[in-house]
Amino acid sequence: MFPGSTWFFMNNMGFAQIRGQEKAIGFLKRMITHGRMSHAYLFYGPDGVGKKTTAEVLAQTVNCLRQEEDKLTAEACLECSACRRIKKQIHPDVKLYEPDGNFVKIEAIRTMQHEISYKPFEGRYKVFIIDQADKMTTAAANCLLKTLEEPPAHSLIILISAGIHNLLPTVVSRCQRLEFSPLPASIIEDVLAESCGLASADAHSLAFFAEGSLSAAYSFDQKVLLKEREAVLANLEKLGRSKEAFLTWAASLAKDKDKTKLERHLKWLLLWFRDLLLWQYGVTGKELAYQDQRERLAGGAGLYSIAELQEKISAIYQSHEAIIRRNANPRLALDVLFMQLMPGRQSGAGMK
Ligand SMILES: [Zn+2]
Repeated sequence: MFPGSTWFFMNNMGFAQIRGQEKAIGFLKRMITHGRMSHAYLFYGPDGVGKKTTAEVLAQTVNCLRQEEDKLTAEACLECSACRRIKKQIHPDVKLYEPDGNFVKIEAIRTMQHEISYKPFEGRYKVFIIDQADKMTTAAANCLLKTLEEPPAHSLIILISAGIHNLLPTVVSRCQRLEFSPLPASIIEDVLAESCGLASADAHSLAFFAEGSLSAAYSFDQKVLLKEREAVLANLEKLGRSKEAFLTWAASLAKDKDKTKLERHLKWLLLWFRDLLLWQYGVTGKELAYQDQRERLAGGAGLYSIAELQEKISAIYQSHEAIIRRNANPRLALDVLFMQLMPGRQSGAGMK
C-alpha cells in the first residue's frame, strides 16, 4: 500500500495525530512549553511506531512561522510555508540524514557539523534528524560526539534508533532519551481499516501479524498475507486427520527459496497456537489474533492441554530459529515440526 517510512505523510500530522505514544509526546510538549528544550534527543523504540514523524513534527513546532517569537507553544500550525516545507523535506534549516548503504558515515556527520555552525537561515532552530543512528560507524559517532559536547545554541539534533545498545554510551548519555512503545494492535487495526479499507476482521488479523509496527503493517502485501492465513487455517483443519497433507504442506513451503513465505506461514501458525493457549486460559475476545475464528479455536483448543500447547509454541520458535538463523534444512525441520504439532504427541525438544 504505502512504502514503509512514508505512512506518516498521508495526512497533515501534528502531535495530536500520532497515536499510541502519549507518554513520549506529553514529555516533549512539556519541555517545549516550559522552554526547557534539550539540544539533543534520542528517540528509540521499535520500527514503524512514529519516531520519525515525531521528529518531523518537533522540527515543525520549533520552526513554525505562526509561533510567537519568544514563547513556543507545543502546536505547529502545519499550514504555514515553513511547516509545509518541513513536511516535504525542503526546508533549509531541517535536514534528515539516513544510512548511505549500511552505514551512517563520517562524511554525513562532517557535513552536519559544517552546517550546524551557521545560524538558521529563517527558522529558530537548525534541526538535524539522524535516522537509524545505530548504523553510525564508530568514526561517525565519535565525530558526532564533539557536537553533542558543545552544541550551538540554535541547534536541535534528533537521533532515531531501534535501541540504545548499539550506540556509543557516550553518545547516549549526552542525549535526552525518549522511549517509543510498540503500538497496541487495536490502533494498527483502526488505521488499517480506515486508510486501506480493509474489513475489520482482516485488519484485526494483520494488526497482530504486524507486532506493533504500523509501517510493517503498511509494507505487507495484504492480499497475499490474508490468502496465506486462509491456507494455514485450511492446513490446520487437516491436523490429526492426515499426515500426508502435512507433509505436502511442508514440501511446498520448503521450496520457497528466500524463506519469506515459509517465515510468514510459521508466524500465522505461531499466532494460531498462541490463540489456542489464550483460549485455554479463557480469553475469547479481541486479544485473539484469529478473533473471527472462534468456532475453530474452540474445537482446536479441546485437542491439547495447556502444557502441550506451550510445547508446540516452543517447537515453532525453535524451528523458526533453526531454519532462518541456523540454515537447517527446511524440509527436514518442517516435517519434524508438523509431526510435533499433531494432537496427542509430545513435542520433545524440537530442532536443535
Ligand atoms: Zn506552521
